[in-house]
Amino acid sequence: MMNPQLIELMDKELLNQHVKALSAYERLTGEEEAERAVDYIVGNLQQHHIPYNRYQFDGYFSDPIHGEVFVTAPMKLAIRAKARSFGANLPHGVKGNLLYDFFSEHSTRISGPEERYEKMKDKIIISWNYYEDYVKKIESAGAIGLIHIWPSKEKALHEETVGTIWGTPTMGTVDQLTNIPVVGINHEDGSKLLEWIKEEHSVEVVLKTEVRNSVKKTSLPVATIRGELEEYILVSGHYDSWHKGATDNATANSLMLEMARIFSTQQSKRSIKIAWWPGHSNGRYAGSAWYCDQFWEEINEKCVAHINIDFPGTKGNVQVVPRSTAMEKEEFLTDIIRDYTKKEPSRSDYLPRGADQSFWGTNIPIHLMLKYEPLDQEKRYQTPGGNWWWHTEEDLVDKVDCDLLKRDTGMHIDLVNHLVNVPILPINLLRFLAKSKEIIKDLDNHSDEAFDFTKIHQIFEKVSIMAGELLEKEESDKTSYNKLLKSIGGKLNRLKFSYSSRYDYDNTYPFQPYPGLAKVKEVYRSNTTQEDFLFISTFFIRQRNRIVNEIKEVIMEIERYFD
Ligand SMILES: [Zn+2]
Repeated sequence: MMNPQLIELMDKELLNQHVKALSAYERLTGEEEAERAVDYIVGNLQQHHIPYNRYQFDGYFSDPIHGEVFVTAPMKLAIRAKARSFGANLPHGVKGNLLYDFFSEHSTRISGPEERYEKMKDKIIISWNYYEDYVKKIESAGAIGLIHIWPSKEKALHEETVGTIWGTPTMGTVDQLTNIPVVGINHEDGSKLLEWIKEEHSVEVVLKTEVRNSVKKTSLPVATIRGELEEYILVSGHYDSWHKGATDNATANSLMLEMARIFSTQQSKRSIKIAWWPGHSNGRYAGSAWYCDQFWEEINEKCVAHINIDFPGTKGNVQVVPRSTAMEKEEFLTDIIRDYTKKEPSRSDYLPRGADQSFWGTNIPIHLMLKYEPLDQEKRYQTPGGNWWWHTEEDLVDKVDCDLLKRDTGMHIDLVNHLVNVPILPINLLRFLAKSKEIIKDLDNHSDEAFDFTKIHQIFEKVSIMAGELLEKEESDKTSYNKLLKSIGGKLNRLKFSYSSRYDYDNTYPFQPYPGLAKVKEVYRSNTTQEDFLFISTFFIRQRNRIVNEIKEVIMEIERYFD
């Protein structure tokens, strides 16, 4: 599938230039230097006569300025800490005794016996967990702060967020923001505190955070490369960063500029839009969510694939893992990865709920995001890219591998080139449905028998039969066939990756496929309070209605296509 003519057009020097230029700026959304980075991006598009829009919007951003843990008893000691974006702003600090949540050692699940949360009132919790659902849970248990210990042993402190709301909050969601201060500390300091707790039983600390929450204006540049059709592929990556973010995400921004330059000289069937998002880091995907809100209809009608790019070209990340909704033909990604890495991908993953995947409400059939990793034996750090400098001041140009950046740019150029020119979208409904049935069977097998999955199993059987019949009739009119694939592919993706309305966003809590059904996993009457069991059962029934009815509509759509 490699296209040597296109790949030859890649300019390694230009790629390096862009990375250097962009990572000269601290690109915190809404700040001066981030806008200078946008100047650079649009300046480059102008230079190559590529049409673009520089949208501007007001977003709600949470900038962590300072975090501090000061131990006051049994001895005095200052510990390095970083405040979390969207944690509470408490510059004068809060004083309290530490309580260790040892349940967090083994699982990030927030369930547990009642005693887990009973003693949290007025305590500062020290824990291995800092996911948003957990922060809200300890907050409602009366905890007054959270110290999160990083699980791997690097000395570096990573920036992170505990923002619970996807994109800009609304009147309906604003109450879900976090109200307690949250900081992160490294493994070594965390272990020391845990030892003292074990020995002394009572450790008192003052926890201070300075977090600046404000409405700021920010830019969002989008390049458009027109093909014969208005139908388009959306390629995206965040341009904002924690600190100078050379590998996260200046490398992707550079890749995208190079992609724009190369495709602007080519004729293709479909169009391409390339979007550089702000608000990824300090706005919980505020940029991509704003874009989806503003252009919802257009995306719903014309966008056939979304490819998100985050930290390509990172030193040591020689392995590439395909990530998607599993709607695309499997070989589409694995062939390209094999061509470029000379290796079979070791596994395939579902898209995470931690990048700019803001488009589940619209009907996009193909969602892709490659993952770059170190060799298995070199995986030492628990960060998304497997390296210690992720989200730190040390993510500088010396962490970029120019050859890997060229490789990753080539892979994306091939992916996009295939998608813009292929006559029929590379979709495999049968693969998607087979995997879905496995996931749902597993949820059914690992939940209380009160959760009745019968109707869901039945509707998946029925839609699978229809998808098989569709496959046999494929070759009719390509335009209407693609239109059908876009519509039903988009609908099925939405059921697998979201649980709320098409016009809203799910919260940022940890994700499992079929999130509307996955809430019942490991839930039994025996391990759940009567109230919680009722609430979960009610949620389950509403989600079951949604899934059964929407798959029925997919079936009707296929039937209409047959007529
Ligand atoms: Zn990133």
